[in-house]
Amino acid sequence: MAAIALSVFDLFKIGPGPSSSHTMGPMAAGYDFLTLARQLPAAVLSGAAGLRIELFGSLSATGRGHGTDRAVVAGLLGHDPRHCPPAVLDALAEAPRLRRPVDLGPGQLAVSTADVVFGPLVHDAPWSNTLVLRLLGPDSDAPPLLEREYHSVGGGFIQYKGQPAVRPGTPVHAYGHMADLRRIVAETGIGVPRLMLENEMAVTGADAAAVMAGLDAVLAAMDAAVAAGLAAEGVLPGPLGLKRKAKQLFEGGRSKRLPHDSALSRLCAFAFAAAEENAAGHVVVTAPTCGSAGIIPATARFLRTRLACPEQALRDGLLAAAAVGFLAKHNATIAGAEGGCQAEIGVASAMAAAMLAQATGCPVQIVENAAETALEHHLGLTCDPVGGYVQIPCIERNAMGAVKAYAAYLIASDETPDHHKVGLDQVIEAMVSTGRDMNCKYKETGQGGLAVSVPAC
Ligand code: SF4
Repeated sequence: MAAIALSVFDLFKIGPGPSSSHTMGPMAAGYDFLTLARQLPAAVLSGAAGLRIELFGSLSATGRGHGTDRAVVAGLLGHDPRHCPPAVLDALAEAPRLRRPVDLGPGQLAVSTADVVFGPLVHDAPWSNTLVLRLLGPDSDAPPLLEREYHSVGGGFIQYKGQPAVRPGTPVHAYGHMADLRRIVAETGIGVPRLMLENEMAVTGADAAAVMAGLDAVLAAMDAAVAAGLAAEGVLPGPLGLKRKAKQLFEGGRSKRLPHDSALSRLCAFAFAAAEENAAGHVVVTAPTCGSAGIIPATARFLRTRLACPEQALRDGLLAAAAVGFLAKHNATIAGAEGGCQAEIGVASAMAAAMLAQATGCPVQIVENAAETALEHHLGLTCDPVGGYVQIPCIERNAMGAVKAYAAYLIASDETPDHHKVGLDQVIEAMVSTGRDMNCKYKETGQGGLAVSVPAC
């Protein structure tokens, strides 16, 4: 069994939306290419004559709507996803033909988003979301000075063709499935959060204080996205003319007749808020992706404000959520381009259900049952963003994912745990086979479902 050796901070990445595969990944690729190019000898760089940026597959199909062109150019201009100010992306969107200097030392080049080539949807690379970056020399018939093929593999992760296998530290607690996690918890007597913390320290070399500080930064960025979304009004970018709703939902939640209506309205408003920030291209946290970046922040704020959970319980909940996200990424996928929306909203909902159960002190079996129930009822969910924009159905889906997570948590914590018949490993396996059988037009290409039946403008 291959043990999971991922870092929590690979899963929860802070950066600009609206799509971890289409913005964070390509921006990271652009930044990586710039870093690599800067290492070329000065004599080579002085002959640099241009850049060629080509997008393939789903990056080409929905890259305009997602702002992939802006993201990769921002990376080439020296911005990494975590620190890129939203104003940089807004400026690139406002002046797509303006050529901006690429700082390559002796080789001064300029680039604009209009230079980005949207290539074929069908290609030979092993990953749908592929981009190829080339640094061209003076002779257009000669091979490029530098070339790298990148794969944006979901959740903001990138890999490049020929990349050597990364050797992370060895986890203390080797697990590849939920059954292993359950067994380790039973054998050691430690809970999922402690297990995850010890693994994180072993894999990354960070100490406990650094991991906790990182979790606090993630929770703070999530809450900042909710707060910004609740305060904002107006229309989201793009041709859909979609009005922000989070503030209205939040204020409407005050006047509901039943207390439960109010709580649900608030949960939806929180999810809308972060998802609308994502759609605006502002800073969010992949959880596990940008498209699903509203569900866990909504759950975290709900835990704080409605269930009065202390911060340590939130950190524990986030670690349990990460365990579920790891299992999905390790055994299936968290990319809409690979598994459809079940892999994004479905996995995020399962993570949020686990977070709710863990943060409220439930044992591991209930944490698992909550996650399983949430994911089970997202199986088969397709990815069909209208016009290629992460707006319709994505924003509402975040609210529905948060509500399902809460319902799954209620069911799991009220039922007798041993009576639960379906395991998390089984539902993840079902997600894999469902995703494999799903027609590719339902996997982030904007060519099926609502993307076809709803006009984009
Ligand atoms: S439909 Fe789902 S998977 Fe597709 S872009 Fe929207 S949130 Fe992501």
